[in-house]
Amino acid sequence: MDTLTVGTQRLIHLDLKGAPPKLTFFEKFFPFVKDLGATGLLIEWEDTFPFLQELIHLGGLSNSAQTSGAPYTVEEAKQLLELAADCGLTVIPLIQTFGHLEYVLKHVQWRHLREVEPYPSSMCPSHSETMPLIRSMIKQMIAFHSNIQYIHIGADEVWHLGLCATCSKRLLTAKHGKVSIYLDHITEIAQHIKENFPHLKIIVWDDMLRNIDAHILQEYYIGSLVEPMVWHYNNLETFHLGAPVWDKYGAIFPNIWVASAFKGATSSCQVIPIHKHHVSNHEAWLSDLSLHASKITNFRGIALTGWSRFDHYATLCELLPCSIPTLCLCLKTWFSGSSTAEIYSSVNKMLGYMDNPLQADVTHRPLFHYPSPLNFPGWQIIVGFEWFVNVRLKYRNIIDSDQMNTWFNQWQVLNNYTNPMQIESILPTLTELHTEISSLENFLKTHLQVYFYPHTIEELLGTLILPIKEHLRQLKCECEAQMTLGCRIRGHKRLNI
Ligand SMILES: [Zn+2]
Repeated sequence: MDTLTVGTQRLIHLDLKGAPPKLTFFEKFFPFVKDLGATGLLIEWEDTFPFLQELIHLGGLSNSAQTSGAPYTVEEAKQLLELAADCGLTVIPLIQTFGHLEYVLKHVQWRHLREVEPYPSSMCPSHSETMPLIRSMIKQMIAFHSNIQYIHIGADEVWHLGLCATCSKRLLTAKHGKVSIYLDHITEIAQHIKENFPHLKIIVWDDMLRNIDAHILQEYYIGSLVEPMVWHYNNLETFHLGAPVWDKYGAIFPNIWVASAFKGATSSCQVIPIHKHHVSNHEAWLSDLSLHASKITNFRGIALTGWSRFDHYATLCELLPCSIPTLCLCLKTWFSGSSTAEIYSSVNKMLGYMDNPLQADVTHRPLFHYPSPLNFPGWQIIVGFEWFVNVRLKYRNIIDSDQMNTWFNQWQVLNNYTNPMQIESILPTLTELHTEISSLENFLKTHLQVYFYPHTIEELLGTLILPIKEHLRQLKCECEAQMTLGCRIRGHKRLNI
């Protein structure tokens, strides 16, 4: 296994379409991951890339990005790449070219390029304006990254294929139906890159290729055009690629990548990564590769993906600082060939978790029992979000409690049919929690602004903190109003709260 895990690339995926960190974070994060054994970065800029000229509305230089305090300016993006280069980290830019193009297709000027008019995810490959747009995006992306050897063109999860009027017509004569439409588009992009940027190797996500027959892939000479990045984020129990996939890929592709996940691959609204799941995913990869390594001619390496949103319109999931412990566990598991107690012990020690070791469930961790600072970039943020997970659990327990459902439900409040004896014990609990979540809000604001831009902080607080805080405030007001009313007959006139 050493030849697979040690002598090859270990890329950390930066999914910047959600919670893109400031450079103050990368200044610490890049040397940190380099020391951990990372060799490079797979950077998915999406709408944070400072697109210029006719593409300016797509990225960090657009008016909407600038007014909401979102990154990146040209200078910031350049500095990010310089920081990576200073640490000796290889950079591979990832730009979507088929599906997951919400950040393009949501804009009025490109809406007509949608494959399905109401949905902004997949682009129509048959429209005459599609390839000029893709070529322009690729050109700007490549021009911005000097000294790159690879470009990743995404092309995963193209949910809508062959559905618009033009593509439906194409389907009538397409030799392999939707597969032809997919492969025609991918090969056209790959050929364009090869002709104009012959020094670049091209990577694609493999999922759309996984179920295509080998003879069709060979017909398209796909093995000479792209290198697949085979992704699988499940744990050992549910991981399944199967021998036929490796037989096919081994026969077709001289170079193969794989992709695991250290965050953003369990619940679509997960706040703190589940260590156990992600470590198990890496064990599953080690196990699968050990079974099928002989079929792979040249193993390029692994990208440890860290998803920030499940798609452009999804809410944020785990933040990068919240995922550093998991990333450490995953990388060390990858290097050692399996997950061991020693790995947990060494990561706990390295990160400063000696008094409260990492656990699968953060709600078991005693709050603020950190006698000394932890030892990784942005550690205060994981402390804040562990606190949030605990506060949210307390909130849900109160809201769903028998006491609230029995003596302070909405029907009772609306009909002023409440008993002060119960409210006297409900009100202090709500007040205490309201005070706690206000403290948490201040704590998170203070620490988030060090590493994140205003638009991320506004989204995080607006999604996670403010709805709970507002609900608690409203319940407190209702308690106080009901207290002043006293115990009344059913149907007493409604209060004007
Ligand atoms: Zn179409």
